[in-house]
Amino acid sequence: MHLLHLPVRDLAQAERSNYRETCMPRPIVAKIDTRALAHNLAVAKRLAGHARVWAVIKANAYGHGLLRAAQAFAAADGLAMLDIEEAVQLRHAGETRPLLLLEGFFDSADLMQCAAHQLTPVIHCTEQLALLSTSTLQAPLDVYLKINTGMHRLGFSVDTVPEVWRGLCGLKQVRHITLMTHFANADGDQAPSVTAQRQQFERATQGLQTAAGQPVMRSLANSAALVHFPQTHADWVRPGILLYGCSPFAFARTDQRADVLGLRPAMTLQSTLIAVQSLAKGQSVGYGGSFTAPHAMRIGIVACGYADGYPRHAPTGTPVLVHQMRTHLVGRVSMDMLAIDLTNMPNAGVAAPVTLWGAGLSADEVASHAGTIAYEMLCALAPRVSVQVM
Ligand SMILES: *Cc1c(COP(=O)(O)O)cnc(C)c1O
Repeated sequence: MHLLHLPVRDLAQAERSNYRETCMPRPIVAKIDTRALAHNLAVAKRLAGHARVWAVIKANAYGHGLLRAAQAFAAADGLAMLDIEEAVQLRHAGETRPLLLLEGFFDSADLMQCAAHQLTPVIHCTEQLALLSTSTLQAPLDVYLKINTGMHRLGFSVDTVPEVWRGLCGLKQVRHITLMTHFANADGDQAPSVTAQRQQFERATQGLQTAAGQPVMRSLANSAALVHFPQTHADWVRPGILLYGCSPFAFARTDQRADVLGLRPAMTLQSTLIAVQSLAKGQSVGYGGSFTAPHAMRIGIVACGYADGYPRHAPTGTPVLVHQMRTHLVGRVSMDMLAIDLTNMPNAGVAAPVTLWGAGLSADEVASHAGTIAYEMLCALAPRVSVQVM
């Protein structure tokens, strides 16, 4: 049937079924290792000691799949995310653990959902406080009171905390309050910045008690602080990136590498060679001719491009594995393809397996070449890449 003669709705349908049933899918696949997710959580829990663990699963669990990750993180005490819809989806799937909304609610409809599904919103601004205090909820909420201790992104300023605290304590809409903050520099070699934020946090929260005279629960640490600053662990830690097997630190020091931290990569992006080219000395490959062969070269074309989530800024020299052996990118990354050097791999031909990042080649290392961080690469994995769960 000729597609152009179909009404638009049928056309979309025809395209979908055409794509799914009659075409070979592209060979690119993201393999998700759920045992690696569980292993990395165990590492986090060991580091956390007595602190409880929120497994951070925002951004579709850093690209790994929300429900899949929630299941793999069965040993986490709670799950933290941003989108209220993701939290509701988890409740519908039977999730009974605490669910923390890291940016809280955005309007009163969200707030109703929080009450209906017993979600724990962060309260970071006076507008949220006002919405909360004027709402009629079917049940009181546990909330996180976010304090700005120096990152200047979200949170109440240190000076206003006692007043906000009193306000929250007086609301019938509120049950338990946990105090939280977030570090701007736990991932660098900037201990003084972490110390300064901790001191601000202490200053803001000293003397606060529950109605029963108990100390108030606290949560400060992301992955980097969990690893490097045990004094920040408090009652609940909030690791994200390390659960996915990547280092929270810039890929520079050996002792900060994911494998050295005992983490396992949870996502491996794999594809295959779909073509091989021979370049004579002086010939170029790809858009802009940004790479010119300094000598005769054998070039492989891989079915992976920036529309799959591979960083377009990855330059010539970015590592790639073919048959588990290292080679590197040459020329500019295109939308659907990239080129690699096969000069020293005479046996690698069409259909040879290629690893872009993951098992055998850390996403951190690829990210450092591409001028980004593994967080961005994992989150950017495109929906068109099929997922295989291991
Ligand atoms: C994303 C996020 C985390 C997790 O950060 P990682 O660096 O991935 O460990 C923790 N807390 C808050 C508030 C966040 O937004």
